Amino acid sequence: MSDMVVVRREGLYCVPGGFYIDPWRPVDRAVITHGHGDHARVGHGHYLAAAPGVGILKSRLGDIDVQGLAYGEVVEHNGVRISLHPAGHVLGSAQVRLECGGEVWVASGDYKVEGDATCAPFEPVRCHTFITESTFGLPIYRWEPQQQTFDDINAWWRKNAAEGRASLMLCYSFGKAQRILSGLDASIGPIICHGSVEPLNRVYRAAGVPLPETKMVSDVDKADIKRAIIIAPPSAGGSPWVKRFGDFSDAFASGWMLLRGARRRRGVDRGFVLSDHADWPGLMGAIKATEAERVVVTHGSIPTMVRWLCQNGLDAKGFDTEYGDDEAENAADAGAAAEGVATTEPDPVAQRWAVKDKANAARDAGTAEARRKVDNAGEDAREDADA
Ligand SMILES: [Zn+2]
Ligand SMILES: [Zn+2]
Repeated sequence: MSDMVVVRREGLYCVPGGFYIDPWRPVDRAVITHGHGDHARVGHGHYLAAAPGVGILKSRLGDIDVQGLAYGEVVEHNGVRISLHPAGHVLGSAQVRLECGGEVWVASGDYKVEGDATCAPFEPVRCHTFITESTFGLPIYRWEPQQQTFDDINAWWRKNAAEGRASLMLCYSFGKAQRILSGLDASIGPIICHGSVEPLNRVYRAAGVPLPETKMVSDVDKADIKRAIIIAPPSAGGSPWVKRFGDFSDAFASGWMLLRGARRRRGVDRGFVLSDHADWPGLMGAIKATEAERVVVTHGSIPTMVRWLCQNGLDAKGFDTEYGDDEAENAADAGAAAEGVATTEPDPVAQRWAVKDKANAARDAGTAEARRKVDNAGEDAREDADA
């Protein structure tokens, strides 16, 4: 039987259905797994997305023709039964289930298996072929339970507040920021959000996600700022915007913070390991739960995952896609969001950071020889990034 989903120049294409999934070039009909910039782009004729994600898409892409589908609800298009199922990644994130002639494919989009307070938890969907992401598809990636990270963040904030110093938390505005907000102990002090974070908070609240009270910096007295935590996108770090906080401690939250090199290069006081993607055991467990005999691996550690899955008796291959890395990129994306600009192109500097972070993953897992090579490459890339 021929493949139900293939890669075309425009993106992943459902052949019998005649539509695309998260296309990176403008198409007539697009099914969107979630609102991150590399999956949801402007310019498509018609969008289909999970109902809880429609507000996000509209806030990020403007006035688009979008149809919201409840999780589990089925629509039929050209003989393909389409349904969307929670991916546990961000508000409204979905896996796309496609059924045609008794054959079932599921495209995961980005996913995370640990449930959290800001979106519907990941739901395994049985299928014949599973298209999985692999952002953290190396065995070294294993997350602690998120509560431990929230406790660490609150302890850091509490200590800074006691010492009269503001706490600046840098993280991606959509998804990560709201997840951190949901874990904060609001009794410590005021919570201030950057102008690119607050509009997304509003969408989350409108969708019924409980978040603590947040303020804009202009609404907080100078004296109180010393006890505050400020949630801002990575692009705000080192910008004139943060000068107003005087003496502050800064931190960055991402799955990449597991890597010492990534922490060092960020140049922040603290790195908190918190990812909206599945870790290695999460990916393996999710793949197994689908009972799929065929697995297609997209963005991330494609060769490693494909090799591992083949060794474990599955029919696995990779798809070459143009999806980015929402844990490392997005400095530019978030900055543009603050200015109300929709970005459709990946940011080259951020892409280089992502490449370096991945190189460091290989390094941390590899030999001294590889380590030397990566160190040299890293320094070259750093100069590029600084230029
Ligand atoms: Zn994403
Ligand atoms: Zn992605």
